[in-house]
Amino acid sequence: MTTQPLTDRPGTGFHSDPVISLRGLTKDFQVGGLFSRRTVRALNSIDLDVERGEIMALVGESGSGKSTIARCVIRLEQPTSGQIVVDGVDVLREEPRGASQAYRGKVQMIFQDPFGSLNPIHQVRHFLERAIRLHTRVGRRENLESKLGELMATVDLPANLLDTHAFELSGGQRQRVAIARALAVGPKVILADEPTSMLDVSVRIGILNLMRRLRDEKGISMLYITHDLASARYVANRTTVMFAGELVESGLSTAVMDHPTHPYTQLLLSAVPDPDRAGTYDPVERARLRSAVLHAASCPFDEDPDTQCSATTPVRHLVGDPPDRHWVRCHLYRPAADVAARALAADTSDDVTNA
Ligand code: ADP
Ligand code: MG
Repeated sequence: MTTQPLTDRPGTGFHSDPVISLRGLTKDFQVGGLFSRRTVRALNSIDLDVERGEIMALVGESGSGKSTIARCVIRLEQPTSGQIVVDGVDVLREEPRGASQAYRGKVQMIFQDPFGSLNPIHQVRHFLERAIRLHTRVGRRENLESKLGELMATVDLPANLLDTHAFELSGGQRQRVAIARALAVGPKVILADEPTSMLDVSVRIGILNLMRRLRDEKGISMLYITHDLASARYVANRTTVMFAGELVESGLSTAVMDHPTHPYTQLLLSAVPDPDRAGTYDPVERARLRSAVLHAASCPFDEDPDTQCSATTPVRHLVGDPPDRHWVRCHLYRPAADVAARALAADTSDDVTNA
């Protein structure tokens, strides 16, 4: 199963081989109780590829829909519509009732709270053994012991911690155990949802370095969800910016951060990153932006009434010269003339201009 590529465009010099492909992924939540018909749209037609062997960061303020994407992919939420293809499997068609064992062998998730995700009364050995036994045939006891040792070494934990209870571990150690447990099944891709945001600043970098090593040495792909742009730049090959259920900009992390093109990306970057705060700016500003950036009567960043986002949904524009995978969805984007001409040549579809 393959999807229509988002990025295999003539002139971009890039061949796409995604391990995760999302097309038109939409999620509405019912709000206001059992009999309410009111819904909020948490995801609005998300198109996203995570390439094999890359770390893709998904950044954006709290409430923008980042976790909902991961929860749909891992099958904790049922999407309202759209398509999810993971490692060639058309997930919603082939796994209609939630994740099978085989699917969980491909995709694993690491959560924000290492205290909540490991039952404190169990020893480290318990979590890892269980994952190994569910997903692989280990055979003899010695094989199991050597596999356990290997996993502990991979996440830089001493083997003697195997017989320690989870409640005796620090937050950083617990998160490493959670990562080891995810690795135990031999996954192709890991979804890491704010894996460092509950940890002490001093141990965050160790987890980020571990993520990089898993990519570089084991070829594991990751969707790294964060509101910390500095960490996204540090670990992620590419960064996608999410705002109010929509993707607004994406590209190589360096390109997005050095040349932010969407007003919202610029705003995110202009705020001093403070890892201890959930949002990067105050709630009033956030509310104003939420109601205004994409679909309101007019964008607050726009002085020209002809470019109202409400009239038409902005399409993707390739950014940069030469254009790479950096794109932005904003009516305000004005490409240089030569880039615009190339984009037109590359794509004649009226839906997506060139990304
Ligand atoms: P993020 O991870 O970026 O902080 P989420 O994906 O958690 O954002 O949430 C996106 C939006 O969906 C928010 O408006 C949130 O309130 C809403 N939402 C998430 N889960 C539920 C749910 N189970 N029921 C109702 N609304 C939800
Ligand atoms: Mg979240």
